[in-house]
Amino acid sequence: MTGRLRHYACGSTSHDLASMFRGAPPERRRFPSGVFLYDGADGRRVLFDTGYATGEWATGWRGAVYRRLLPPRVEDADDVARRLQDDDVDPASVTHVVLSHLHPDHVGGVRRFPDATFVVSEGLQRTLAAPTLRSGVLTGLLPDWFDSAAKRVLRADEFAPRVVRGVEVAAVDLFGDGSYLLVDLPGHADGHLGALVGGSVLLAGDAAWGSDLLADAPRLRTLPRAVQFDADAYVRTAHTIAGLADAGVRVVCSHDPLLGRELAG
Ligand SMILES: [Zn+2]
Repeated sequence: MTGRLRHYACGSTSHDLASMFRGAPPERRRFPSGVFLYDGADGRRVLFDTGYATGEWATGWRGAVYRRLLPPRVEDADDVARRLQDDDVDPASVTHVVLSHLHPDHVGGVRRFPDATFVVSEGLQRTLAAPTLRSGVLTGLLPDWFDSAAKRVLRADEFAPRVVRGVEVAAVDLFGDGSYLLVDLPGHADGHLGALVGGSVLLAGDAAWGSDLLADAPRLRTLPRAVQFDADAYVRTAHTIAGLADAGVRVVCSHDPLLGRELAG
């Protein structure tokens, strides 16, 4: 890969696998909230998602419901700006922020990037315009300026079929050089996005709870299935991603417990 790809954990939650998947062992697993920084050509710095928000959440009763279902563990050091600074990265140097979707564990650090261009899907824009409890969006986590922030909204008709190692996906080439493809990974949320970085690492967002859980998607229990935007598409997407993994693409889900900071480069 040309460029460098790094991972930061910005808070976490935990869940019992047996309550999520039929037939899974009773294993309580911690799911860190991953943020991924790509340093590419010409000073481009692309952040994929922003982790949990630190401090108090001004999110009312919807926030209370969310926190009860998926209790976050967030400390001040989990703030994405702190994580970057601790790695000698100035948050203001981030040129683009991709939002895979709007769930709280992905947008909590949006407020730290007022000068970046946000890369989002039409589906995300739709959700933002009419958030519902089921969509799991807490608009109070987003700063006031987000509506008017610089945005690159990816239209549905921009996603072109593309064959990656024998597997067909629908993608938008963000910079026109193949270094950073936004990939349509439908199911989890309306317009849910992944990113294929350097042709070799797929940031799969919440297309699955973990890269080792892709094959378990058809065994999702009723509640975790009900909170997917399109549960059938979720299962199909997991199958497609498993195909990419079999073909040698490194698949990284947002909540994978990764040990190293450097993913590639
Ligand atoms: Zn999510």
